[in-house]
Amino acid sequence: MKKIKGCINPECIAKRKKLTYAADDYYCSKCGEPIFYVCRWCRKPLEEGDGAFCADCQAKMDARKQQVKDTALKTGSTVKNAATKAFGFLSENGKKFYEAAILGADEEDDDVEEYTAGGDEE
Ligand SMILES: [Zn+2]
Ligand SMILES: [Zn+2]
Repeated sequence: MKKIKGCINPECIAKRKKLTYAADDYYCSKCGEPIFYVCRWCRKPLEEGDGAFCADCQAKMDARKQQVKDTALKTGSTVKNAATKAFGFLSENGKKFYEAAILGADEEDDDVEEYTAGGDEE
């Protein structure tokens, strides 16, 4: 999964609206502050060596992934079905996002904005 860039200025509308910038953008188009690679899920700045997600979200994702795989094994359903069931409480986009993360499918385009987290997953 590709990394995304975002503004981390807490005062900035680009941060509040979770705007996504391209890899060759270096400054926020709203506030002019430098932008950074951020976690696709929680928008925390990524650390050196992180993938598309921060370590926290990656750990959560891995745990869910394992959970879904276990469920699929136990119930004899496919991983995709188990994932759909497990994340049925998420919005359609949230589900797609999780499925993509879990099934390892990469998005077809760079339109990541529709995958923004609802923040209601706890
Ligand atoms: Zn900004
Ligand atoms: Zn994160």
